[in-house]
Amino acid sequence: MEKYILAIDAGTTSSRAILFDKNAESIEIAQYEFNQFFPKEGWVEHDAIEIWNTQLKAIKEVIKKSKIDPNQIDSIGVTNQRETTVVWNKKTGKPVFNAIVWQDRRTANFCDQLKKDNKTELIQNKTGLVIDAYFSGTKIKWILDSDPKIRTQADAGELLFGTIDTWLIWNLTDRESHITDPSNASRTLLYNIKEDIWDDELLLLFNIPKKILPEVVDSSSISAYVDEKIFGAKTPISGIAGDQQAALFGQLCTDKGDIKNTYGTGCFCMMNTGKTFVKSKNKMLSTIAWRIGGEVTYALEGSVFVAGALIQWLRDKLGIIKSASEVEDLAKSVDNNGGLTFIPALSGLAAPYWDPYAQGTIYGITRGTENGHIARAALESIALRTRDIIIEMEKDADIKFSSLKVDGGASNNNLLMQIQSNLLNTKVIRPKTTETTALGVAFLAGLATGFWKDIPSLNNLWIKDKSFLPIKETNSDKIIELWDLRINNLLKINE
Ligand code: ADP
Repeated sequence: MEKYILAIDAGTTSSRAILFDKNAESIEIAQYEFNQFFPKEGWVEHDAIEIWNTQLKAIKEVIKKSKIDPNQIDSIGVTNQRETTVVWNKKTGKPVFNAIVWQDRRTANFCDQLKKDNKTELIQNKTGLVIDAYFSGTKIKWILDSDPKIRTQADAGELLFGTIDTWLIWNLTDRESHITDPSNASRTLLYNIKEDIWDDELLLLFNIPKKILPEVVDSSSISAYVDEKIFGAKTPISGIAGDQQAALFGQLCTDKGDIKNTYGTGCFCMMNTGKTFVKSKNKMLSTIAWRIGGEVTYALEGSVFVAGALIQWLRDKLGIIKSASEVEDLAKSVDNNGGLTFIPALSGLAAPYWDPYAQGTIYGITRGTENGHIARAALESIALRTRDIIIEMEKDADIKFSSLKVDGGASNNNLLMQIQSNLLNTKVIRPKTTETTALGVAFLAGLATGFWKDIPSLNNLWIKDKSFLPIKETNSDKIIELWDLRINNLLKINE
């Protein structure tokens, strides 16, 4: 009986289930989008029940479409949008509030207060993170403070907290396992990544009771079993990783110095720093990449909140394209950006600026400006934000990267990848499967059960699709010069 790995990829906009075979080829996929709620300016929420329902629907559909017996699933890997925060009642199984999404800025004021109280050093030393509303800690505190009844229930041990991995596993195991892995825990502001434990001092600072937190298990180990009622088999769950760390693993960036950039809703650039916690001097994040066999691997990360989401905005709000992929042809309808610089600060600016109040801006509009220029400047802005990060990461790592591995939905855009290569003056390499997030967690799951033997045996499963080499005669210098000038202008407005 042939066996497969089921990857659960709980993204920001959709729930996906993907079945991988021994050759790491995805043989079946099912995907359901779910609602995004924007109840106030800067607020972004999901319905956690809808996430669970769409995820379960995707799992069942993948099993049905592939015509496999559920017992042919060797094991399951769960990867997820990180930081998004769910607090639920363990008796009723109902969330006490909508899930607060990683992009949500509602706790920016509390973050300002923490900075004023000189907590920046303490928090960076312990968690590797900067103080920002992005991470789960302030979101949990916000939910507990939103209603005295919720606070009382939390103190009485009636509530549980989880990121989306934890929430899904709790439901998949029919309320049996309340677990997460260090890659997810390290994004909460509550996890001491040097000691690999929940940090009591930080829990006190955020006023969060320890009993609501999940147990932290290895990223690659059999840590739970799906309840047989769910889809008819008691399948082991043996891989857990936040989406970006999973993508790092899926790109086989398993050695120190290996680097990848994912172009999804946001852009996430991550570099493996091996067994050492490298504290960034340039406003990058230090984070746990994964823990395997009790041993932690660390990474440096630079996040861009709005990348593919900018293309969604062009589609849904500006209406200049009908589908995301149309942006490539529209941008190609003009030779250059027509003097435009698009600052994609639609949810503030993350690394290395960390300005939650920055707003999206298009500079340089004239009567000659066309939709094509806007599309081109939008693509350039994604590449320029990535460049902002790579420059700082090179400083932290004290090396010049010779190539960049890419993945994620927007990496299918050849023009964007060429622009990226030109602006970085670096080779950009795209693998055949851009589903590296799902593949990475499938690798983690399959390594734990012996489905795949070891990391070296995975190397011939990584297949290149296309490389992009920098083209010299483009006007990259001018684009960069205007970007630096204009983004600094924007930041000054907020000072
Ligand atoms: P996530 O996992 O964050 O939901 P994906 O990796 O699935 O994201 O990528 C989807 C994102 O990529 C969307 O924001 C979409 O606008 C963008 N996208 C998809 N195809 C293209 C394309 N050809 N060019 C530019 N952006 C694209």
